[in-house]
Amino acid sequence: MTDFAWDVAIIGAGVAGCIAAIALAPSCRVLLLDRQKEPPARIGECLPAAARRILEPLGLFGELTRPDSPHRRALGMQSYWGSSRLQINDDLRNPDGFGFHLDRPAFERFLREQAAAVGATFRRPVRFQKAESDGETVHLQLHDEGEGREQKVRAGYVIDAGGRAAPFAKHQTGARIHLDRLTACWATIPNTDVRAMGTIHAAENGWWYSAPLPNGRRVLAYQSDSDLIDSALHREADSFLAKVGREPVLAQWINPQKPELFLHGIVPAGSSRLPQPAGRLWAAVGDAACAFDPLSSQGMFHAMATAMQLCDLLKKSQRFKNGGVSSRAAVQKAYTAQIEQIWQRYCRHRLLFYGLEQRFTASPFWQRRHAARYETEMVCK
Ligand SMILES: Cc1cc2nc3c(=O)[nH]c(=O)nc-3n(C[C@H](O)[C@H](O)[C@H](O)COP(=O)(O)OP(=O)(O)OC[C@H]3O[C@@H](n4cnc5c(N)ncnc54)[C@H](O)[C@@H]3O)c2cc1C
Repeated sequence: MTDFAWDVAIIGAGVAGCIAAIALAPSCRVLLLDRQKEPPARIGECLPAAARRILEPLGLFGELTRPDSPHRRALGMQSYWGSSRLQINDDLRNPDGFGFHLDRPAFERFLREQAAAVGATFRRPVRFQKAESDGETVHLQLHDEGEGREQKVRAGYVIDAGGRAAPFAKHQTGARIHLDRLTACWATIPNTDVRAMGTIHAAENGWWYSAPLPNGRRVLAYQSDSDLIDSALHREADSFLAKVGREPVLAQWINPQKPELFLHGIVPAGSSRLPQPAGRLWAAVGDAACAFDPLSSQGMFHAMATAMQLCDLLKKSQRFKNGGVSSRAAVQKAYTAQIEQIWQRYCRHRLLFYGLEQRFTASPFWQRRHAARYETEMVCK
């Protein structure tokens, strides 16, 4: 049975999906769904200061600064990149103020609550399975993971905020385009360093990233290409500890008697995008549209910004008032151009930053990133 028709169905209640729901729900009927009942422990907790520009107008910024907030102010980033000398990029001169080290599940739980509070209907754990379109509306087949039954819903417009998997959009556009196969192997340890700064550290076959978490622990992540990472690293805590131990800057954070390391495993971290970020009745936002290398530390900001860019275009168009065909085409064209611009700028920055590290020229990881063909996109099934 097909249930109620929605103006917009949003697949995925991560940062991108929730921001889109919060922006749209006051003006139209929004269904937000996620396959996960609760936000999972996710790597990626450094929120750049510029996020304030999006959170403040939506009335969400106070959550980060209230006295009993679970999130912590970040003072900036320190890096060992291109040289073994420490470089500090602090937020003191940043016109947007300070960034934050988020309690990521708490932040996403807050965004989900806000989406429901402004009128979005939130269903979870509900998985999007497939869709068909009659040219005017999209019929979505969902699976309620809690009740174990199929559901069908109809929507005038679909926003794919399903992360790198792009569960809806991948069926519309075909194979995702990858620039590389970067993966991140991550763990947490107790935090013994009082400095509220993230750390980037280049290594022979990849690079490290670390940041304090608000819960008294510290995240440690090693990034390299999937074919260059030893599989023991993400399966055995001892292998991970041994690798950390070979980098003095990181080893100082480990208590050899009591490392208390919790290995979370491996996640994709490469640069990739959809061949096309939008169609007539749909658009992808956040990682679904294009996913960045964590070196950029911009993933959440990009998720929020693309969601807002799309919602502004949708609200400006007459789509929800008279279903005008030309306005659908205009949204598609304008949004596609915006994503293309973001992607081109990102690609230039990525080349520039990897180019700054020239100490490991014999290593395949760095050779790949310095070679001209690094710009060439791989189309992967
Ligand atoms: C190693 C690493 C470190 C990072 N560090 C940072 C950082 O410090 N700062 C930063 O800003 N960014 C960081 N990022 C990137 C950041 O985490 C992502 O860019 C961000 O999570 C993207 O948000 P999103 O909402 O687009 O997608 P996601 O966070 O992936 O959310 C997608 C949601 O869709 C749901 N979903 C998927 N498929 C379905 C389906 N079929 N049906 C229903 N629901 C579905 C998922 O359950 C999920 O909740 C990092 C990424 C990596 C890999």
